[in-house]
Amino acid sequence: MDYWKECISEAFEDAGITVTEEQIGIVTSWVEGAHENYGLASGYDTIPNPENTEIKELKRLLKEERERIRDLTYSNDRLRWKIWELKEKENSEHEARDADCPKCHNTGIIPGGVTPDGIEMDREFCDCPKGEEEYESYSEMAHPAFNEDPNNV
Ligand SMILES: [Zn+2]
Repeated sequence: MDYWKECISEAFEDAGITVTEEQIGIVTSWVEGAHENYGLASGYDTIPNPENTEIKELKRLLKEERERIRDLTYSNDRLRWKIWELKEKENSEHEARDADCPKCHNTGIIPGGVTPDGIEMDREFCDCPKGEEEYESYSEMAHPAFNEDPNNV
């Protein structure tokens, strides 16, 4: 069923105009053509639909927001990784410090001992991390005996 042909036939009939099938065909093709060009002629097609403009703007904002979230996620991942690395480093330092030292048994100090020069020591600092720690705190206390030249004792 031809929509426009039906419409025009009924319009002529309603107006009491008697027309031939050929005349209906001519009028129908005019109305069809006019209908097809309506959007172009009225400028409806070329004027941007404000809703489309709004949708476009919202899409742009969404894209920006997604990029921002992606950047934040990236920074977040990097920071988490950095924190993890620092924790690992801290843990391994603790482990190294807490490791059982067979030489000083984690006291940092080895009682007795003889230096390569043959000097007898009542005690010495271990070369393990705990020994270094003890050595540092001993140095900080600036114990007079610490600065003594063992050769002059
Ligand atoms: Zn030690």
